[in-house]
Amino acid sequence: MRIVWFFILLLSLPLMAHNQTVILVYHHISDQTPPSTSTTPALFKQHLDYLQANQFKVISLQQAIHSVENNHSKHPEKSVVLTFDDAYLSIYEQAFPILKKRKIPFTVFVSTESVEKQYKAMMNWQQLKELSEAGVTIANHSHTHAHLTQENQNSDVLGRQLDIAQHLLTERLQQTPPPLFAYPYGEFNSNLQTLLNTRGWYGLAQYSGPFSRYSQKTRIPRFAIGGHYSGMTAFKLRVNTLAMPVVEELPGDPHVERMPEAFHLRFDDLPFARQNFQCFYNNHPVSNMVWKDKKVSFSVSANLSVGRSRINCTAKDSKSARYYWHTLPLFNLNPNSD
Ligand SMILES: [Zn+2]
Repeated sequence: MRIVWFFILLLSLPLMAHNQTVILVYHHISDQTPPSTSTTPALFKQHLDYLQANQFKVISLQQAIHSVENNHSKHPEKSVVLTFDDAYLSIYEQAFPILKKRKIPFTVFVSTESVEKQYKAMMNWQQLKELSEAGVTIANHSHTHAHLTQENQNSDVLGRQLDIAQHLLTERLQQTPPPLFAYPYGEFNSNLQTLLNTRGWYGLAQYSGPFSRYSQKTRIPRFAIGGHYSGMTAFKLRVNTLAMPVVEELPGDPHVERMPEAFHLRFDDLPFARQNFQCFYNNHPVSNMVWKDKKVSFSVSANLSVGRSRINCTAKDSKSARYYWHTLPLFNLNPNSD
């Protein structure tokens, strides 16, 4: 009997290693909204057609979290989660009918003040309730959509941003919202992560890389789709990425004021060849990598950009044409800029 269990364990190991999901974040689905944050309805349908034709399962965010965290054995080999930030009206008018017809689950992250004040570009509570009753997940994107890492770092002030929104979602939709929070502008720091942790919430960020058991629950990566990242080439590349097994990274807090002197990533194992691993900062390759066992260290000679920037690291899989992808986000946020 013991021998049987040993073989079952051995057979299931390769599958467990790929327990991951690519989470996408869209804003507008429309051909009349700002192109940089929009995907046209025609292109959006192409995205869904591609997923369907290539055996991707579109699962809910909650299912993805549950399945990845528990290393569920039935987790689909290729899976994608669709999320939409800000609750724009175009999601109700354009995306919802398409997704409803195809029975595809999705999540909408709402900044509650914009709904309370009935901003024209946003859904109203009645529309959000209709989505909710149709099984769509409606979740917290703060109350005012402020740059939370730039605000007064007072935890009470920040906590109110989270709790007012959660309270309004509960009241207006008459159900308990899920423990999910999408950071406005994808900006987070360790202070905000602590606030989420004390509430038992998951934090959805906005930087590249698949979600896996190696992701921290308060900074789950999502690929932003919109503008030129809506095109099919970029879309296919992103949904086919694999999660790097990163167990430690420096800097731990992406909120920095100058370019950090040293970066490192430590991996659980190396499913790719070291020579295929490469990183880019603002499209400039990082050249001075030093490997020691399963840890790579490097520095970046460029100045740190103002605003949000990132170091993208990729490596071709040894066994397929797919790419591992891990991003180190960097936030150098000037309080006076938008
Ligand atoms: Zn937003």
